[in-house]
This record gives sequence, structure tokens and C-alpha cells, in this order.
Amino acid sequence: MSAVKPTGPLDRVAGAHDAAVLAVARRGEPVARTGLAEALQVTPQAISKILSRLSERGLMAEIGSVSFGPGKPTTLYRIVPESRRAIGLHLTRSRLHGVVTDLTGQILVRREVEIDRGQPVPELISALAGVSRDLAQHGPGELLGVGVGMPGPVDSTEGVYRGASSPADAWHGASVRSLLLEELSLPVLLDHDSRAALVGESWSQPGLLDNAALVLAEEGLGAALRLDGAMVRGAHSRAGEAGHTVVRMGGTPCPCGRRGCAQAEYLAALEEGDPGRAAQVLATVVMDLVRLVDVDRVVLGGRSVYAHHATTMEAIRQALDESLRAESHVHVEVLLSTRGIDLIAAGAACEVLEHEYGLPAALVGPGAG
Ligand SMILES: [Zn+2]
Repeated sequence: MSAVKPTGPLDRVAGAHDAAVLAVARRGEPVARTGLAEALQVTPQAISKILSRLSERGLMAEIGSVSFGPGKPTTLYRIVPESRRAIGLHLTRSRLHGVVTDLTGQILVRREVEIDRGQPVPELISALAGVSRDLAQHGPGELLGVGVGMPGPVDSTEGVYRGASSPADAWHGASVRSLLLEELSLPVLLDHDSRAALVGESWSQPGLLDNAALVLAEEGLGAALRLDGAMVRGAHSRAGEAGHTVVRMGGTPCPCGRRGCAQAEYLAALEEGDPGRAAQVLATVVMDLVRLVDVDRVVLGGRSVYAHHATTMEAIRQALDESLRAESHVHVEVLLSTRGIDLIAAGAACEVLEHEYGLPAALVGPGAG
């Protein structure tokens, strides 16, 4: 197997302030020098330089000027969504769902193909490459790269899938990132599905999810964390595996070797046709995350959550109310992902965008050096 090639930054912004200006502009409103200077605590002169730098690169554009009383009119700028694109792929056991997004994370095109979970790695890579090449034909702007989100465990630093080392798991140990990079000659990022989802949600809602957990219920149950504005990965790229925290001692056996893991209990409840009990399991996971890492927003997503969203949201809100009643200063908001089934594919694309244009605190993983 060839050595891992670095996925170097193509177009990374010059510094924290450039990224911060772009983050403000991503909210969609026109921005001006004075407002940005106040918001970011930087001199107006410095902001002017940043705005002209971002405009030269086509990331932002002047859209006119307004006058506030006497003196020079103020120039207004906006982000240019169509200046850049990224491809996002969501790989599951049976499907490959792909999207192209613009610079703000808006989806331009979608593709979906069936995948056979038993197919050998070279076939998997050519399927990923095929969908990427097709998607690359669509949308305006410079194409920055490809993000892939898949169920874990995934080593996002090495770009390797670390699933079960059993003969049943044909993809175990696959260097998805380097193989796909070789195939496409484009930067590639690989990440856990729930982490991709959270990056996507926070990219499209700058500032809203700086202390947040995303709980994803797809084929399994997992979570991702963003604390103090940075994604949390951990020593083995496994932070947030809430699906394997025990919620019932001596409970349902889990493939991980323990009993009563949240994921095993959740899937068992659904299999028995008891969405109410499944919702209770999710509520326990959410409360544990809130207690453990102090988030103020919890985003829920995944096909299984969408299927029972009313029951699930209600169970979680109730658990939060009961648990936090004595702490009136602690507020935790529970949100349902706004992206539906595109959540992970769009998120994987946003990981590429964040890698290039995110705040430096978020620039972790391949090539961040
Ligand atoms: Zn387990």
C-alpha cells in the first residue's frame, strides 16, 4: 500500500480574522467595515485589508454603498456562495448519497447509488470516485475537494476506516482517503458520519453551535461534539461514541462486547416496535452528554430519528426539564437537523469548506500541521 499523501490546503484563508469575517458573512446579511471591526475587535484598517484580500480571491464581493449621515459612504460586501464548491459523500451499508454544495453549504445537486456492503475495497473506491466525477460536473466555482462521512470507527487523521476486524467487514482498515485521493487527484477528507453532520450544521449556522452535541441515529447510534467552537476528536479520533455508553446494567448484548450499551438498547427497542422506549434511551444519552460536556444545544438527526421525531423530541425535552429544573441558569435547546437525509453528505462537503476557510481552532486533522 502506498504511503499516505498529505491533503494539503489548496486555498486556506490567511488567518483567524479572514476566517472570522467569512463566518460573519456566511450568515447571509451584507457586511461593512465598521460593523465587522466592532464585532471582531479589530481596527477598521485591518478589516479593509481583509475585505480586499477576500474580494481579490472572489470569496466576497462589493455590492454597493450606503451613507450614514455626512462623510464617506460605507461600502457593503457579501459572501459569494458560487465562488467555491465542495463534494460531500455519505456512505452507508447499502447506499452512497452524494451532494455538491456551494461555499455556504447550500446543496446544488444530489446523487444516490446503491452499494453492496460486501464489495471489495477497490470496487468501493471506484464507486466513490464515479459519483465524485459525476458531481464534479455540476455547479459553478472552484472545486475544493471531497469529504466522505461514514459510520465509525473512522480515523479522520489517517483517513482510514477502522471497523470491526472480522471477515464480514470487507472495508476494515481501508485507507479510503489516500485511495480516493489517488483516484481523483483532489483533496479528500474522511470522517465519522456524526462529526461530518455537526460540522455541516455549524458551518451553515455560524456561531449557533459552538458548544453543541449532535446525536445521530442512523444504522447505529452515535454523537459528535463541538466545544468552545472546535470539533472534538480525541486521542483515537473516537470522541463522542455515546452509542457505547451503558444505559442499562446487564442489558442487551452489544457487538462491542458489553451489555446495555445505548445503541444496543435503542435498536432493540425499535425492533420490538417500541419507539417510546427508544426515545427514552436517546433522552438518557442526551442528558449524559449535557452533564458530561456542558453543551447548550443538542441537534438530532438521522433516518431513525426522523421516523419518530415527535416522540423523540418530547422525551428529550421532558428529560431536560426534569433534570435541569433546579438549575434555572442552565439552558439547553434541542433542535432537529434542518437538512433531513442530506445531513451527512452536506456535512462532509462542509468539512472540506471548514478545512479551507474555518477558524483555525477548527483546523484539525489532515494537513493542519
Ligand atoms: Zn457497545
